[in-house]
Amino acid sequence: MPTGLPYDRPMTRVLLAEDDPAISEPLARALRREGYEVDIRADGLAALEAASESPDLVVLDLGLPYLDGLEVCRRIRSEGSSVPVLILTARADEVDTVVGLDAGADDYVTKPFRLAELLARVRALMRRNAVEGGTTPDLVRIDPEGRRAWFREEELQLTAKEFDLLRVLVREQGKVVSREQLMREIWETAWFGSTKTLDMHISVLRRKLGDDAAQPRYISTVRGVGFRFERLDAV
Ligand code: CA
Repeated sequence: MPTGLPYDRPMTRVLLAEDDPAISEPLARALRREGYEVDIRADGLAALEAASESPDLVVLDLGLPYLDGLEVCRRIRSEGSSVPVLILTARADEVDTVVGLDAGADDYVTKPFRLAELLARVRALMRRNAVEGGTTPDLVRIDPEGRRAWFREEELQLTAKEFDLLRVLVREQGKVVSREQLMREIWETAWFGSTKTLDMHISVLRRKLGDDAAQPRYISTVRGVGFRFERLDAV
């Protein structure tokens, strides 16, 4: 499914199971703006099938055709998955059954909800999961259109050039990007020898990512060539 974002990994994938397009469409747009990759499924069976593709988070409507959200959640858990599940429900009285006790969901939002509220819950679940599971804590998410970036679910405060630099490095992750290319693409300037500005920006980016300048884990220096953003699912 096209997401408008050119990166396959490392992106956080959200499975959105909701049969009402008046809810799923604006919600998917908002999640994509936040840098998530979103997969929409409009019935319970399709949602269950998509859940087997290891999403990082499931947003699950309770009232779904063919198989209701409660049953979808139970089956996800019975298959041994601990993916965070956020329930959408118009039925506030069912919430006790849904969360934790029975079906094994992690949190819920009652309809109608505010987008900001839902996005905050999503971020909280992703953070909690990263801390507990320790599986994918190092994800970088980038929203090129909104010019925002997140690391470990925290938004990074970046200047315009720092953002551009991170965007290019992450886009080319796993590959060396030459100093010439970075100077050309980010500073729109030919390279005449000095790349002191570039080195300064790399060092600030490393600091903001909590990277160690002496032994960088994320942005490696490739001597005589340039820099490489390491594939985060490999570190
Ligand atoms: Ca529904």
